[in-house]
Amino acid sequence: AAMPARLSAIAQQWAERTPHAPALIEGDRRWNYAELAHSMNSAAQLLRKLDVRPGDRVVVVGENCALQIALIFACASVDAWVVNVNARLSSREVDTIASHCTARRVLYLTHNSPEAAAHAQYSGSSTVAVDGMGTLQVGALNEAAQPEATTAGNEQIAALIYTTGTTGQPKGVMLTHRNLLFIAAVSSRLRGLEPGDRAYGVLPISHVYGLASVALGTLTAGATLQLVPRFSCEHLLSALRDGLTIVQGVPAMYAKLLQTVGGAGTPLPNRLRFAYAGGSPLSPVLKQEVEKLLGTSLHNGYGMTESSPTISQTRLDAPRHDDSVGLPIPGVDVRLVDADNADAAPGETGELWIRGPNVMAGYYREPAMTAATMRDGGWLNTGDMARQDADGALFIVGRTKELIIRSGFNVYPLEVETALNAHPGVVQSAVVGCLLADGNEDVVAYVEIDARQRVSVDDLQQWLAQHLAPYKRPSTIIVMEALPAAATGKILKGRLKQMAQQQITSSDL
Ligand code: ATP
Ligand code: MG
Repeated sequence: AAMPARLSAIAQQWAERTPHAPALIEGDRRWNYAELAHSMNSAAQLLRKLDVRPGDRVVVVGENCALQIALIFACASVDAWVVNVNARLSSREVDTIASHCTARRVLYLTHNSPEAAAHAQYSGSSTVAVDGMGTLQVGALNEAAQPEATTAGNEQIAALIYTTGTTGQPKGVMLTHRNLLFIAAVSSRLRGLEPGDRAYGVLPISHVYGLASVALGTLTAGATLQLVPRFSCEHLLSALRDGLTIVQGVPAMYAKLLQTVGGAGTPLPNRLRFAYAGGSPLSPVLKQEVEKLLGTSLHNGYGMTESSPTISQTRLDAPRHDDSVGLPIPGVDVRLVDADNADAAPGETGELWIRGPNVMAGYYREPAMTAATMRDGGWLNTGDMARQDADGALFIVGRTKELIIRSGFNVYPLEVETALNAHPGVVQSAVVGCLLADGNEDVVAYVEIDARQRVSVDDLQQWLAQHLAPYKRPSTIIVMEALPAAATGKILKGRLKQMAQQQITSSDL
């Protein structure tokens, strides 16, 4: 079938085809597709009443809930750009985003998020209702907001999504209806989703993996999305007992699960057809242990906000046992390029460029950054180094920007992290480069260890001595109770890099 022009068609289509099929679950509440479409229409009416015009930006501060889904579809049906912001950001971070995009309105989804309620209180807001889904808080009208141009076709901007900011300031990625509908369809098809499936919606909808791949991917299939505002092992375990069929998460989430129930060695009873990880490197050791625990394959996918997000994933009919991120998804072209922008030799590592219907429209109000990322012919430079095996499967080697040059040798933090994560006592790790007074770079590792295993820094150094060449080994290993992470579970390396830099410079003196 031809691709519709708007995301809202997803809710409309299933409301017509299977109105009584369960669409959303949140806690004890359920909404079928007819009810979802009804709430979408009610929310769209509300947006018009709040003076939201086509081309306006609407910031939605919240944590995963049914109302967030109704608002995404409602914004789509009135041609507003939805800007989902995680309520766990600080008030300053929320303000920075709302002013960067000059939001016409900021909405706060307070019923399941004390953080969202605190933001609402701080900004002064009033209560309004969405039929069938309860109430939300509305901030003041921004008279100065100017609508952007709209288009009838599917190149209209649907969502503005701010990146994690792992390597610097968050950037506002403009994603079109076409981008998101394409990924939703690919996600649903490659995962073999069907109306009877129930998918776990714990990845934040404020980020593209939770939005496009999980939420929209599930609803595109007419399946059921269980909305979960925050990850906890207890909740996941009870959802597994209740008949979850698909779980999509990040490696850190699976690591926590193993830490909580691992060791017992007995597989958890469940009805999962498969599990998925993505967003950060997945170590083969973790993968194997999770597969034993869940009794099903843990697949890996790779992507970024700028590509809506999926670029590649391992295929259900071809599970892998290594650290490959799978094959490029159908419809997406990949290229590996060397320093001169020429194609790298087969099997060689190069910078990964991609092209396809998932590539963003650009960074909002950052033309220079957009120009530096988009190349002639519609190519997007991912900023990741990768290689491809003879079958076309991709392997991520590391981020170009994170490359550490130590006395003339190249060190990719990812390789060091992979070696550290393979140690049974390590929950997760992050390796950063640190500039020394003599202009050289040093390698510093931050490690979160499993408290029950009593691992020392010496143990870890010995372990690395068996696994890595001397120039790749960190000069300093710092153990932390928890690594600083975004709501997605992604480690905030920028912060760690600053910490390392401070520590090294002060001990240099
Ligand atoms: P910023 O661009 O603001 O610094 P970010 O790049 O971390 O933040 P995202 O778009 O959330 O923001 O993350 C995309 C990046 O995550 C990719 O470029 C890649 O480096 C990494 N990544 C995603 N999935 C995987 C995976 N399966 N294996 C290895 N790395 C991955
Ligand atoms: Mg990035």
